[in-house]
Amino acid sequence: MDDPQDLSQLENFCILPWVQAHLNQSGAVAPCCKVVNDFAYGNLKESDLQAALNSPGAVEMRRELLAGKSPAVCRECKALDRAGTPSLRTDSLKYHPVAVVQVLAERSEVVSVKDLTSLDIRFSNLCNFKCRSCGPEYSSSWEASGTGSRHVQLSKVDHFWPLMDSLIPQLQHLYIAGGEPSLDSDHFEFLKRLIAKGRKDIHVAYNSNLSKLSLRNHSWLEDLRQLPSVRLGISVDGAGPQAEVLRKGTVWTEIVDNIRTLKTEAPHVQLILNPTVSAMNIFHLPDAIRNWIATGLLTCDMDLQFNILFKPAYLSLNILNPKERELVNQRFASLRLWLQAEVSSDLAHKLLPQIDFLLQSFAEELHSDLRKQFRYVTFALDRKREESFVKHFPEHFEMLYVEPLNE
Ligand code: SF4
Repeated sequence: MDDPQDLSQLENFCILPWVQAHLNQSGAVAPCCKVVNDFAYGNLKESDLQAALNSPGAVEMRRELLAGKSPAVCRECKALDRAGTPSLRTDSLKYHPVAVVQVLAERSEVVSVKDLTSLDIRFSNLCNFKCRSCGPEYSSSWEASGTGSRHVQLSKVDHFWPLMDSLIPQLQHLYIAGGEPSLDSDHFEFLKRLIAKGRKDIHVAYNSNLSKLSLRNHSWLEDLRQLPSVRLGISVDGAGPQAEVLRKGTVWTEIVDNIRTLKTEAPHVQLILNPTVSAMNIFHLPDAIRNWIATGLLTCDMDLQFNILFKPAYLSLNILNPKERELVNQRFASLRLWLQAEVSSDLAHKLLPQIDFLLQSFAEELHSDLRKQFRYVTFALDRKREESFVKHFPEHFEMLYVEPLNE
Protein backbone atom coordinates (compact mmCIF):
# COMPACT_ATOMS: atom_id res chain seq x y z
CA MET A 1 0.00 0.00 0.00
CA ASP A 2 1.93 3.03 -1.26
CA ASP A 3 -0.59 5.76 -0.56
CA PRO A 4 -0.84 6.41 3.19
CA GLN A 5 -4.31 7.87 2.67
CA ASP A 6 -5.67 4.81 0.86
CA LEU A 7 -6.72 2.69 3.80
CA SER A 8 -9.80 1.13 2.27
CA GLN A 9 -8.05 -2.11 1.31
CA LEU A 10 -7.15 -2.95 4.91
CA GLU A 11 -10.13 -5.06 5.88
CA ASN A 12 -9.03 -6.32 9.31
CA PHE A 13 -5.80 -4.50 9.98
CA CYS A 14 -5.41 -2.32 13.08
CA ILE A 15 -2.36 -0.18 13.79
CA LEU A 16 -2.93 0.30 17.51
CA PRO A 17 -0.96 -2.80 18.65
CA TRP A 18 2.14 -1.14 17.12
CA VAL A 19 1.72 2.47 18.16
CA GLN A 20 -0.46 2.61 21.27
CA ALA A 21 -0.47 1.39 24.85
CA HIS A 22 -3.75 1.35 26.71
CA LEU A 23 -3.02 1.42 30.47
CA ASN A 24 -5.98 0.92 32.73
CA GLN A 25 -6.35 1.84 36.38
CA SER A 26 -5.44 -1.69 37.50
CA GLY A 27 -2.13 -1.69 35.59
CA ALA A 28 -3.36 -3.82 32.69
CA VAL A 29 -1.62 -3.16 29.35
CA ALA A 30 -3.54 -3.66 26.10
CA PRO A 31 -3.66 -2.19 22.60
CA CYS A 32 -6.96 -0.40 23.28
CA CYS A 33 -9.79 -0.02 25.77
CA LYS A 34 -12.12 -2.27 23.73
CA VAL A 35 -10.22 -5.46 24.50
CA VAL A 36 -8.66 -4.85 27.90
CA ASN A 37 -11.28 -6.66 29.97
CA ASP A 38 -10.96 -9.85 27.89
CA PHE A 39 -7.36 -9.68 26.83
CA ALA A 40 -4.38 -7.81 28.25
CA TYR A 41 -0.79 -8.11 27.04
CA GLY A 42 0.30 -8.05 30.68
CA ASN A 43 0.15 -5.96 33.82
CA LEU A 44 2.53 -3.26 35.05
CA LYS A 45 2.32 -4.78 38.53
CA GLU A 46 4.04 -7.88 37.19
CA SER A 47 6.29 -6.74 34.36
CA ASP A 48 7.65 -3.59 32.79
CA LEU A 49 5.95 -2.03 29.78
CA GLN A 50 8.51 -3.34 27.27
CA ALA A 51 7.96 -6.94 28.40
CA ALA A 52 4.17 -6.55 28.40
CA LEU A 53 4.15 -5.09 24.89
CA ASN A 54 5.96 -8.19 23.62
CA SER A 55 4.23 -10.89 25.65
CA PRO A 56 3.29 -14.04 23.70
CA GLY A 57 -0.31 -12.81 23.44
CA ALA A 58 0.76 -9.43 22.07
CA VAL A 59 3.06 -10.99 19.48
CA GLU A 60 0.33 -13.43 18.42
CA MET A 61 -2.15 -10.57 18.00
CA ARG A 62 0.25 -8.69 15.70
CA ARG A 63 0.94 -11.92 13.78
CA GLU A 64 -2.77 -12.40 13.14
CA LEU A 65 -3.21 -8.80 12.02
CA LEU A 66 -0.24 -9.03 9.65
CA ALA A 67 -1.82 -12.20 8.23
CA GLY A 68 -5.00 -10.25 7.46
CA LYS A 69 -7.02 -11.89 10.23
CA SER A 70 -9.21 -10.22 12.81
CA PRO A 71 -8.23 -11.37 16.33
CA ALA A 72 -11.17 -12.88 18.21
CA VAL A 73 -10.91 -10.26 20.96
CA CYS A 74 -11.51 -7.50 18.40
CA ARG A 75 -15.18 -8.48 18.11
CA GLU A 76 -16.51 -4.95 18.82
CA CYS A 77 -14.62 -3.42 15.91
CA LYS A 78 -15.53 -6.42 13.77
CA ALA A 79 -19.24 -5.96 14.50
CA LEU A 80 -19.07 -2.27 13.58
CA ASP A 81 -17.02 -3.06 10.47
CA ARG A 82 -19.65 -5.61 9.40
CA ALA A 83 -22.36 -2.97 9.80
CA GLY A 84 -20.31 -0.51 7.73
CA THR A 85 -19.98 1.79 10.75
CA PRO A 86 -16.77 3.62 11.76
CA SER A 87 -14.89 1.74 14.47
CA LEU A 88 -11.87 2.43 16.66
CA ARG A 89 -9.96 0.26 14.19
CA THR A 90 -10.89 2.35 11.16
CA ASP A 91 -10.34 5.58 13.12
CA SER A 92 -6.87 4.38 14.13
CA LEU A 93 -5.92 3.86 10.48
CA LYS A 94 -6.89 7.46 9.76
CA TYR A 95 -4.95 8.86 12.71
CA HIS A 96 -1.73 6.92 12.02
CA PRO A 97 -1.46 6.57 8.21
CA VAL A 98 2.34 6.84 8.04
CA ALA A 99 2.82 4.18 10.73
CA VAL A 100 0.45 1.88 8.80
CA VAL A 101 2.66 2.05 5.72
CA GLN A 102 5.81 1.54 7.78
CA VAL A 103 4.48 -1.41 9.79
CA LEU A 104 3.13 -3.15 6.68
CA ALA A 105 6.52 -2.76 5.01
CA GLU A 106 8.58 -3.95 7.99
CA ARG A 107 6.11 -6.65 9.18
CA SER A 108 7.65 -6.92 12.63
CA GLU A 109 5.64 -8.66 15.34
CA VAL A 110 7.55 -7.01 18.16
CA VAL A 111 7.63 -3.38 19.21
CA SER A 112 9.74 -1.17 21.40
CA VAL A 113 8.36 1.24 24.01
CA LYS A 114 10.16 3.86 21.93
CA ASP A 115 7.75 3.11 19.02
CA LEU A 116 4.72 4.22 21.01
CA THR A 117 3.23 7.49 19.85
CA SER A 118 -0.19 7.06 21.43
CA LEU A 119 -1.18 6.57 25.06
CA ASP A 120 -4.72 5.70 26.15
CA ILE A 121 -4.75 5.98 29.93
CA ARG A 122 -7.14 5.56 32.87
CA PHE A 123 -5.43 7.13 35.89
CA SER A 124 -8.02 5.73 38.28
CA ASN A 125 -11.63 4.64 38.69
CA LEU A 126 -12.39 7.69 40.83
CA CYS A 127 -15.82 8.93 39.76
CA ASN A 128 -18.70 10.88 41.25
CA PHE A 129 -21.28 9.15 39.04
CA LYS A 130 -22.62 5.61 39.04
CA CYS A 131 -23.98 5.18 35.56
CA ARG A 132 -26.33 2.28 34.93
CA SER A 133 -24.13 1.18 32.03
CA CYS A 134 -20.97 1.23 34.18
CA GLY A 135 -19.81 -0.77 37.19
CA PRO A 136 -17.45 -0.74 40.16
CA GLU A 137 -14.38 -1.35 38.02
CA TYR A 138 -14.74 2.06 36.37
CA SER A 139 -16.54 4.01 39.09
CA SER A 140 -15.50 4.19 42.73
CA SER A 141 -18.98 5.56 43.54
CA TRP A 142 -20.44 2.10 43.07
CA GLU A 143 -18.68 1.23 46.36
CA ALA A 144 -20.94 3.62 48.24
CA SER A 145 -23.97 1.69 47.02
CA GLY A 146 -22.58 -1.51 48.55
CA THR A 147 -21.53 -3.31 45.38
CA GLY A 148 -17.96 -3.71 46.58
CA SER A 149 -15.52 -1.45 44.81
CA ARG A 150 -12.66 0.75 45.95
CA HIS A 151 -10.57 3.53 44.56
CA VAL A 152 -7.99 1.97 42.21
CA GLN A 153 -5.06 4.14 41.11
CA LEU A 154 -2.66 3.37 38.30
CA SER A 155 0.04 5.55 39.91
CA LYS A 156 0.39 2.91 42.66
CA VAL A 157 2.37 0.66 40.30
CA ASP A 158 6.16 0.82 40.73
CA HIS A 159 8.05 3.43 38.70
CA PHE A 160 4.83 4.91 37.35
CA TRP A 161 5.95 8.54 37.15
CA PRO A 162 9.41 7.72 35.69
CA LEU A 163 7.56 5.73 33.00
CA MET A 164 5.26 8.68 32.27
CA ASP A 165 8.23 11.05 32.16
CA SER A 166 9.97 8.78 29.64
CA LEU A 167 6.88 8.58 27.39
CA ILE A 168 5.97 12.28 27.33
CA PRO A 169 8.68 13.36 24.83
CA GLN A 170 7.60 10.83 22.17
CA LEU A 171 3.80 10.96 22.35
CA GLN A 172 1.67 12.46 19.60
CA HIS A 173 -1.76 11.31 20.80
CA LEU A 174 -3.09 11.08 24.32
CA TYR A 175 -6.52 9.79 25.33
CA ILE A 176 -7.66 10.22 28.92
CA ALA A 177 -10.81 8.76 30.41
CA GLY A 178 -11.62 7.28 33.78
CA GLY A 179 -13.19 7.17 36.25
CA GLU A 180 -13.70 10.86 35.81
CA PRO A 181 -10.60 12.82 34.74
CA SER A 182 -11.84 16.11 36.24
CA LEU A 183 -11.67 14.59 39.74
CA ASP A 184 -8.27 12.96 39.37
CA SER A 185 -5.20 14.68 40.80
CA ASP A 186 -2.91 12.22 38.96
CA HIS A 187 -4.40 13.45 35.70
CA PHE A 188 -3.53 17.03 36.66
CA GLU A 189 -0.03 16.00 37.75
CA PHE A 190 0.45 14.39 34.33
CA LEU A 191 -0.70 17.57 32.55
CA LYS A 192 1.70 19.61 34.70
CA ARG A 193 4.61 17.40 33.63
CA LEU A 194 3.48 17.50 30.01
CA ILE A 195 3.38 21.29 29.98
CA ALA A 196 6.67 21.57 31.93
CA LYS A 197 8.35 19.43 29.25
CA GLY A 198 7.07 21.77 26.52
CA ARG A 199 4.67 19.18 25.06
CA LYS A 200 1.56 21.30 24.66
CA ASP A 201 1.55 20.20 21.02
CA ILE A 202 0.23 16.70 21.83
CA HIS A 203 -3.27 15.94 20.49
CA VAL A 204 -5.25 15.33 23.66
CA ALA A 205 -8.62 13.59 23.68
CA TYR A 206 -10.84 13.13 26.71
CA ASN A 207 -13.96 11.41 27.78
CA SER A 208 -15.58 13.17 30.74
CA ASN A 209 -18.97 13.46 32.40
CA LEU A 210 -18.26 17.22 32.54
CA SER A 211 -19.75 17.61 36.00
CA LYS A 212 -16.71 19.61 37.15
CA LEU A 213 -14.32 22.08 35.59
CA SER A 214 -12.06 22.36 38.63
CA LEU A 215 -10.79 20.22 41.51
CA ARG A 216 -10.37 22.11 44.79
CA ASN A 217 -8.15 25.03 43.75
CA HIS A 218 -6.98 23.47 40.47
CA SER A 219 -8.71 24.70 37.32
CA TRP A 220 -9.05 22.09 34.59
CA LEU A 221 -10.41 24.85 32.40
CA GLU A 222 -7.06 26.67 32.67
CA ASP A 223 -5.23 23.47 31.66
CA LEU A 224 -7.49 23.09 28.64
CA ARG A 225 -6.82 26.68 27.61
CA GLN A 226 -3.10 25.91 27.50
CA LEU A 227 -3.45 22.90 25.20
CA PRO A 228 -4.05 23.91 21.59
CA SER A 229 -5.40 20.56 20.32
CA VAL A 230 -8.09 19.08 22.56
CA ARG A 231 -11.10 16.91 21.73
CA LEU A 232 -13.45 16.47 24.64
CA GLY A 233 -16.10 13.77 24.48
CA ILE A 234 -18.93 14.42 26.91
CA SER A 235 -20.71 11.33 28.11
CA VAL A 236 -24.37 12.31 28.21
CA ASP A 237 -26.92 9.63 27.39
CA GLY A 238 -30.09 11.68 27.49
CA ALA A 239 -31.50 15.05 28.44
CA GLY A 240 -33.06 16.23 31.70
CA PRO A 241 -34.44 13.62 34.14
CA GLN A 242 -33.62 10.75 31.78
CA ALA A 243 -29.95 11.79 31.75
CA GLU A 244 -30.01 11.88 35.56
CA VAL A 245 -31.45 8.36 35.87
CA LEU A 246 -29.06 6.83 33.34
CA ARG A 247 -25.99 8.40 34.93
CA LYS A 248 -26.77 8.75 38.64
CA GLY A 249 -24.97 11.77 40.04
CA THR A 250 -25.84 13.92 37.04
CA VAL A 251 -27.38 17.31 37.76
CA TRP A 252 -28.50 18.11 34.24
CA THR A 253 -28.43 21.89 34.68
CA GLU A 254 -24.80 21.73 35.83
CA ILE A 255 -23.75 19.76 32.75
CA VAL A 256 -25.53 22.29 30.54
CA ASP A 257 -23.78 25.19 32.35
CA ASN A 258 -20.36 23.53 32.01
CA ILE A 259 -20.83 22.90 28.28
CA ARG A 260 -21.77 26.57 27.84
CA THR A 261 -18.78 27.70 29.91
CA LEU A 262 -16.41 25.61 27.80
CA LYS A 263 -17.90 26.99 24.60
CA THR A 264 -17.23 30.56 25.69
CA GLU A 265 -14.07 30.21 27.83
CA ALA A 266 -12.18 27.61 25.78
CA PRO A 267 -13.70 27.85 22.29
CA HIS A 268 -10.78 26.01 20.67
CA VAL A 269 -11.74 22.78 22.47
CA GLN A 270 -13.52 20.47 20.03
CA LEU A 271 -16.60 19.33 21.92
CA ILE A 272 -18.26 16.04 21.10
CA LEU A 273 -21.48 14.78 22.60
CA ASN A 274 -20.70 11.15 23.18
CA PRO A 275 -23.81 9.23 24.25
CA THR A 276 -23.47 5.58 25.16
CA VAL A 277 -26.29 3.98 23.21
CA SER A 278 -27.93 1.01 24.85
CA ALA A 279 -31.29 -0.71 25.13
CA MET A 280 -31.95 1.66 28.03
CA ASN A 281 -31.85 4.98 26.15
CA ILE A 282 -32.44 4.12 22.50
CA PHE A 283 -36.14 5.11 22.55
CA HIS A 284 -35.35 8.40 24.32
CA LEU A 285 -32.37 9.32 22.15
CA PRO A 286 -34.30 11.06 19.33
CA ASP A 287 -35.97 13.35 21.91
CA ALA A 288 -32.63 13.94 23.60
CA ILE A 289 -31.06 14.97 20.29
CA ARG A 290 -33.94 17.39 19.66
CA ASN A 291 -33.43 18.81 23.16
CA TRP A 292 -29.65 19.20 22.71
CA ILE A 293 -30.18 21.07 19.46
CA ALA A 294 -33.11 23.20 20.66
CA THR A 295 -31.21 24.32 23.77
CA GLY A 296 -28.03 25.10 21.85
CA LEU A 297 -25.96 22.31 23.41
CA LEU A 298 -25.41 20.56 20.09
CA THR A 299 -24.33 23.04 17.48
CA CYS A 300 -22.78 22.87 14.08
CA ASP A 301 -19.24 23.33 15.40
CA MET A 302 -19.60 20.18 17.52
CA ASP A 303 -19.70 16.48 16.76
CA LEU A 304 -22.10 13.79 17.88
CA GLN A 305 -20.51 10.37 18.19
CA PHE A 306 -22.51 7.41 19.38
CA ASN A 307 -20.70 4.97 21.62
CA ILE A 308 -22.66 1.82 20.87
CA LEU A 309 -22.71 -0.39 23.95
CA PHE A 310 -21.68 -4.03 23.50
CA LYS A 311 -20.96 -4.89 27.14
CA PRO A 312 -22.69 -5.80 29.33
CA ALA A 313 -24.57 -7.71 26.65
CA TYR A 314 -27.90 -7.54 28.54
CA LEU A 315 -27.92 -3.75 28.00
CA SER A 316 -27.03 -3.90 24.32
CA LEU A 317 -29.37 -3.01 21.47
CA ASN A 318 -29.44 -6.66 20.50
CA ILE A 319 -31.89 -7.51 23.28
CA LEU A 320 -34.65 -5.51 21.59
CA ASN A 321 -37.36 -7.55 19.90
CA PRO A 322 -38.71 -6.81 16.38
CA LYS A 323 -41.61 -4.70 17.70
CA GLU A 324 -39.23 -2.54 19.73
CA ARG A 325 -36.82 -2.22 16.82
CA GLU A 326 -39.70 -1.01 14.69
CA LEU A 327 -40.52 1.65 17.29
CA VAL A 328 -36.86 2.74 17.30
CA ASN A 329 -36.92 3.01 13.51
CA GLN A 330 -40.11 5.08 13.61
CA ARG A 331 -38.68 7.49 16.17
CA PHE A 332 -35.46 7.97 14.24
CA ALA A 333 -37.40 8.37 10.97
CA SER A 334 -39.35 11.17 12.64
CA LEU A 335 -36.09 12.70 13.92
CA ARG A 336 -34.67 12.58 10.39
CA LEU A 337 -37.64 14.53 9.06
CA TRP A 338 -37.29 17.08 11.86
CA LEU A 339 -33.56 17.49 11.18
CA GLN A 340 -34.21 18.00 7.46
CA ALA A 341 -36.97 20.55 8.08
CA GLU A 342 -35.97 22.44 11.21
CA VAL A 343 -32.20 22.39 11.53
CA SER A 344 -29.44 24.13 9.58
CA SER A 345 -28.39 22.04 6.63
CA ASP A 346 -24.78 21.92 7.88
CA LEU A 347 -25.80 20.37 11.18
CA ALA A 348 -28.32 18.04 9.52
CA HIS A 349 -25.64 16.83 7.09
CA LYS A 350 -23.37 16.09 10.00
CA LEU A 351 -25.96 14.18 12.02
CA LEU A 352 -27.84 12.16 9.41
CA PRO A 353 -24.95 9.79 8.55
CA GLN A 354 -24.34 9.19 12.26
CA ILE A 355 -27.98 8.16 12.64
CA ASP A 356 -27.68 5.83 9.66
CA PHE A 357 -24.60 4.20 11.20
CA LEU A 358 -26.41 3.77 14.49
CA LEU A 359 -29.42 2.08 12.91
CA GLN A 360 -27.17 -0.19 10.85
CA SER A 361 -25.76 -1.61 14.08
CA PHE A 362 -29.10 -3.37 14.62
CA ALA A 363 -27.99 -5.92 12.05
CA GLU A 364 -26.92 -8.28 14.83
CA GLU A 365 -29.41 -11.00 15.70
CA LEU A 366 -31.82 -10.76 18.61
CA HIS A 367 -30.61 -12.11 21.96
CA SER A 368 -33.94 -12.54 23.72
CA ASP A 369 -32.40 -14.66 26.51
CA LEU A 370 -30.73 -11.53 27.89
CA ARG A 371 -34.01 -9.66 28.44
CA LYS A 372 -34.54 -11.36 31.82
CA GLN A 373 -31.16 -10.12 32.94
CA PHE A 374 -31.99 -6.58 31.80
CA ARG A 375 -35.12 -6.78 33.93
CA TYR A 376 -33.32 -8.23 36.97
CA VAL A 377 -30.54 -5.59 36.95
CA THR A 378 -32.94 -2.72 36.29
CA PHE A 379 -35.15 -3.66 39.24
CA ALA A 380 -32.11 -4.21 41.49
CA LEU A 381 -30.77 -0.73 40.72
CA ASP A 382 -34.24 0.81 41.09
CA ARG A 383 -34.50 -0.66 44.59
CA LYS A 384 -31.00 0.35 45.62
CA ARG A 385 -31.36 3.87 44.26
CA GLU A 386 -35.01 4.40 45.09
CA GLU A 387 -35.68 5.22 41.46
CA SER A 388 -38.20 4.10 38.89
CA PHE A 389 -36.55 3.43 35.55
CA VAL A 390 -39.85 2.76 33.80
CA LYS A 391 -41.29 6.09 34.93
CA HIS A 392 -38.78 7.83 32.65
CA PHE A 393 -38.54 5.10 30.01
CA PRO A 394 -42.13 3.85 29.61
CA GLU A 395 -41.32 1.96 26.39
CA HIS A 396 -39.74 -0.71 28.63
CA PHE A 397 -42.98 -1.38 30.52
CA GLU A 398 -43.74 -4.54 28.56
CA MET A 399 -40.25 -5.98 28.95
CA LEU A 400 -40.13 -5.14 32.66
CA TYR A 401 -43.68 -5.93 33.79
CA VAL A 402 -45.63 -7.91 31.19
CA GLU A 403 -43.30 -10.38 29.55
CA PRO A 404 -43.42 -13.88 31.10
CA LEU A 405 -40.34 -14.65 33.20
CA ASN A 406 -39.64 -17.88 31.34
CA GLU A 407 -39.52 -16.21 27.91
S1 SF4 B 1 -9.25 -3.86 16.01
FE1 SF4 B 1 -10.40 -2.65 17.50
S2 SF4 B 1 -10.47 -3.92 19.31
FE2 SF4 B 1 -8.82 -4.73 18.04
S3 SF4 B 1 -6.98 -3.71 18.77
FE3 SF4 B 1 -7.80 -2.50 17.09
S4 SF4 B 1 -9.07 -0.94 18.04
FE4 SF4 B 1 -8.72 -2.53 19.55
